[in-house]
Amino acid sequence: MQNEFRLPSQDKMITFREVTVQDALDLAQLNPKFEEKSTSWWLTNLQDGDVYPAKLWSQEDRIVGLLYLYFLTQDDVQRRVSYTCQHCGESHTFSADYGALAKNPLNQFDQWPTAQLQDEYQLNPLTGEDLEELEMLKLQDPAPTDDQLRLQVIAKRLRTEPAQLAKLSLTKYISLMKEAESKLEEIRHGIDLTVSHICPTEGLDSQIALPFRANDFIPRV
Ligand SMILES: [Zn+2]
Repeated sequence: MQNEFRLPSQDKMITFREVTVQDALDLAQLNPKFEEKSTSWWLTNLQDGDVYPAKLWSQEDRIVGLLYLYFLTQDDVQRRVSYTCQHCGESHTFSADYGALAKNPLNQFDQWPTAQLQDEYQLNPLTGEDLEELEMLKLQDPAPTDDQLRLQVIAKRLRTEPAQLAKLSLTKYISLMKEAESKLEEIRHGIDLTVSHICPTEGLDSQIALPFRANDFIPRV
């Protein structure tokens, strides 16, 4: 397998070297609770040649990178996935081929994708650095509420401060959120983690968004 891949967010090639046991041992020193931090470490330290820190990659780049590195070291890239069926109400389990998904990347951009919102904001993909900061927030005690987290996420996507957004009128904030939601499609890239599965009882199709946990794709020794 080629050990080189292109970041979907920009015209940049990343080369990985071979993964050693020592790499896995070094990684094990990081607290597994810090999944994003571990991801940054893993994707950065395993690069060969010119290193492009994974903190600067988009969230989507990081998923592709993790899958890619995983395939370099594993033969079996199937994972069991369960979901509750909307047709029969039962739980179904099937084997999802993450390997096949990674071979069919969605949009690739030559330059970092952005979308214009209400003339004053630019919608961005989340970066590895954003994800690390959000992870720290989620691990705080007390944990932030869903609304607080959503504000943090949108602030990062718009490259502004949460305090600035908090000053907006509620009407304006809600319309901004709606517009951001609708424009996410414009900056979508990386891998489509949606697969279809046929209910064995009813014979009807469901679209399943496959779960992606970084910890499932970085080795723990
Ligand atoms: Zn079913």
